[in-house]
Amino acid sequence: MTKNPLLNAIAASVYIVIVAAVMTIGSKYAPRVSNFLAPIAAMSLFTLSAAVMGYLFCYQPLQLYFDNKKKQAVKLFLQTIAIFGVLTAIALGLLFSGIGRSIEEVHYHAGFLVYVDGVKQDFSDTKYMHVEACDEEGHEVEEDEQLEKAHLHDGVGDVVHVHRNDATWKDLFTNIRYEFPSAQEVAGYVNGVRVENILKEPITKYDSVLFVAGNDANVDLSQKVSRDHMFEVESQSESCGS
Ligand SMILES: [Zn+2]
Ligand SMILES: [Zn+2]
Repeated sequence: MTKNPLLNAIAASVYIVIVAAVMTIGSKYAPRVSNFLAPIAAMSLFTLSAAVMGYLFCYQPLQLYFDNKKKQAVKLFLQTIAIFGVLTAIALGLLFSGIGRSIEEVHYHAGFLVYVDGVKQDFSDTKYMHVEACDEEGHEVEEDEQLEKAHLHDGVGDVVHVHRNDATWKDLFTNIRYEFPSAQEVAGYVNGVRVENILKEPITKYDSVLFVAGNDANVDLSQKVSRDHMFEVESQSESCGS
């Protein structure tokens, strides 16, 4: 690379930003299957990163070193590391200050229905609703990370509001404090198709999921929450930043 330690350190940061951006976008669309391709991809990326960083940090210093400019070589290497250290500190500062969180506003919806022993469960009661906590001046108080993942609003008991990308169906039921009779026996039907371990599945935009526990003899397994209903909820519910 160049003999300018600032440029080298910035190049390293740019590489990291690009990889992080690609992975963030990719993880949103990639199917959540863990097979042997996952470690291959991870290790390939790790190796590539090590090679790129090695090149950025060491190429010029090594050149100088072999030109018998050892002092300059060490100086350039240390300067590059120092600047990269400062950039890393800035990135950590941004992370801990919570700025990164507000960059990406997540808010989407999905439908769900729950039957236990053939009886449809009603979640429209106020006790299941998420009421955005505001202080006297109307400012939102610190958001609860777990509650923000998935919750219900406005007395609607069959449309979940998701505010975090990694929210699972389990998060919803945790947040509304609903316990199935037995976690293992919950069958899940996503848009009418049976899915194993449904509670561990991420909530996907506009999916309609049917949860059936216990006896399903009288349950229509193909029933769904309609998209029109989700659209309707979407257009009505914009209370207090949620
Ligand atoms: Zn919403
Ligand atoms: Zn909300």
